Amino acid sequence: MNPAAAVRPGASQGREVPPAQRQAPPAARPGPVETPKVVRLADFAATASSPFIQYEDDVEPYIEQNACPHCKGSGWLRLDSPVGDQNFGKLVPCECTMALKDRKAFEELKKNSNIELFRDLTFDTFNTRVPKTRESFEVARQYAKDPSDWLLFMGNYGCGKTHLAAAIANEALSRHIRLYFAVVPDLLDYLRATFDPNSSETYDQRFEMIRNVPLLILDDLGTENAKPWAREKLYQIINHRYNAKLPTVITTNNDLDTLDGRIHSRVCDQQLCRIFVLQADDYRMYTPEDRARFRQASPPTRQKY
Ligand SMILES: [Zn+2]
Repeated sequence: MNPAAAVRPGASQGREVPPAQRQAPPAARPGPVETPKVVRLADFAATASSPFIQYEDDVEPYIEQNACPHCKGSGWLRLDSPVGDQNFGKLVPCECTMALKDRKAFEELKKNSNIELFRDLTFDTFNTRVPKTRESFEVARQYAKDPSDWLLFMGNYGCGKTHLAAAIANEALSRHIRLYFAVVPDLLDYLRATFDPNSSETYDQRFEMIRNVPLLILDDLGTENAKPWAREKLYQIINHRYNAKLPTVITTNNDLDTLDGRIHSRVCDQQLCRIFVLQADDYRMYTPEDRARFRQASPPTRQKY
């Protein structure tokens, strides 16, 4: 193996240098500390006469054409510190590495949010020209910027409450807020599934995640299976979030009086929960002429609840 391959621009992959050829930095000496300068690793590497760069085992640097102009694709930059400085020889991640980390973190956030099926239900695709939805829309839009308390949207099927709840989730996600979007009957199935011995995740892990996620959206509360187990789990989730005042959005098709009494009393706490009744008629029931009228001056986006 040619150790110089680790630092030569154009090499396809870095290789760890044998221990005998590594050059350990001398011990730091006390003295004035200079602000370290950053040099491009690839520029530095091109002039290096001896191989000495040691890459971390979990980082596979690669150099390719059209790669990042700062690090030439290596992903790392070396601090230009004098010999003896504590930062001498230190590698720091390039901005392209940090951007990649951010993208990966966001993908993880998105994957865990359970919002994939509702990604097209955003504030942009909500038709605010449908009568009697404006106030709820504005409240939801403000809330999504900084979720703090509880919101509950009530209304018949097709009034747009799921669309608003999903729009909150999508907006919050774009702000990198960790959230979980749960259609309540599915949520209970999801919890039950962890009793499957083949499940890679334990029930406790899932339950804890849902209880404590920074923003929880419970869509379609009141239609869940009313068996005691399901009722108890749902109550435990809602009660925990109520006590901890964790941001929560709920939609329901039901009259609040039909909810479990313990849940009813919590959503009716006006200190924590704001309730909005969406009175729009079922948008799906409108004639094509009505729809065309509502769409006037609205962008031609897909409308779906
Ligand atoms: Zn870079």
